Amino acid sequence: MLTVTEVEKIILDLIKPIKDKEFVSLLDATNRILAENISSVLDFPYWDNSAMDGYAVKYTDVSIATENNPVSLKIVEEIPAGYCPQKTIAQGETARIFTGGMLPQGADTIVIQENTKREGDKVLVFVSPPTQNFVRHKGSFYRAGDTLLSAGIKINPPEMAILATAQCINIHVVRSPIVAILSTGDELITPDKELKLGQIIDSNQYLLASFIQQNGGIPLPLGIIPDDETALENAISQALEKADWVISTGGVSVGEYDYVDKVLSKLGGEIKVQSVKMKPGKPLTVATFGDKLYFGIPGNPVSTMVTCWRLLKTALEKLSGKTNYSFPSIVRGITRNYLRSDGMRETYLWGNVNLIDGYYQFTIADGSHSSGNLVNLQGVNGLGIIPIGTNLIEIGDDVKILLVN
Ligand code: AMP
Ligand code: MG
Repeated sequence: MLTVTEVEKIILDLIKPIKDKEFVSLLDATNRILAENISSVLDFPYWDNSAMDGYAVKYTDVSIATENNPVSLKIVEEIPAGYCPQKTIAQGETARIFTGGMLPQGADTIVIQENTKREGDKVLVFVSPPTQNFVRHKGSFYRAGDTLLSAGIKINPPEMAILATAQCINIHVVRSPIVAILSTGDELITPDKELKLGQIIDSNQYLLASFIQQNGGIPLPLGIIPDDETALENAISQALEKADWVISTGGVSVGEYDYVDKVLSKLGGEIKVQSVKMKPGKPLTVATFGDKLYFGIPGNPVSTMVTCWRLLKTALEKLSGKTNYSFPSIVRGITRNYLRSDGMRETYLWGNVNLIDGYYQFTIADGSHSSGNLVNLQGVNGLGIIPIGTNLIEIGDDVKILLVN
């Protein structure tokens, strides 16, 4: 059986990031992955401008100014932001200027208004500023033609602002991954049906749809498939036609009704992983159909969630074309409860993590830590990890914590 880290590597190595592009308007681009390098024909700043409210001066005019011997300059123009200066500043002259205002010809330095006193059409300067003080120079942030944003980055608020500044009102982003979802099991019913004895309501379909959506994919929920080889075969082959990935839950254990692996092989899938030394989540099937991936994950809701958090989140990010996809955030902290395991598999216990005085503290969720209990998964933001070979982590001891949500 493979370790979690080994399986993580196998999965990531199998993933070929999506290259297909689509055109979206800028306001629809949040959370999308940029599909092409962006450059601008403009320098940033577009022109020299003032970073402060004050006076645009020649440095040589004010270099000797002091509190007791202020320099008097003639104000020849007023330059609010958005105005194009009409005058060239000559020796002994200045222009009143406001933040963002364009620096006039002849001036090279800004004196902030706090260091001046206005007297009619003159201003007294009391302090000698450093030369070029508070001038934002044309092209000092970015030179026209250079790469401004690289393909493969995620578009968050700062990138939106940069794209707008570069006048990119429509952009190419990577097509979002489509992930088909199948729930397998004769016992399952949809949430709108009345529960009969022995049945179970399909929650995994919803859990997975939400997880996929949260992580930039397009969920394609394909419903419940009975534990029947032919039905499963049809459902899987149809799902593979429609999606980049197929995720099914249930039917990957060693029970009589667990047909998934058999059907995958029959359909020509190459099985790369069959189980992982992880609790919950041991029976995990990963198969490839060309570039498409199939994940058969166990039916227990907590196993499904933990497998998503630990193994599929990074994988989905890589598939989506993000260049710097992020690995799971695993931090070190201390546990406020005893954490127990049989020591045979890497064990994930769900709970809450708080950052107190710079230290992460992990508190295990109340209630049963059965992989069938999804009720105490609510509000979870961290999973305490007990390594293989460890049976007990004592209160106050060091623990690795996987940060989620
Ligand atoms: P299996 O992996 O098929 O052996 O299922 C393991 C357990 O998870 C069984 O108790 C199933 O009833 C339950 N289960 C399977 N699929 C789902 C699902 N889609 N939603 C909720 N529970 C499920
Ligand atoms: Mg089943």
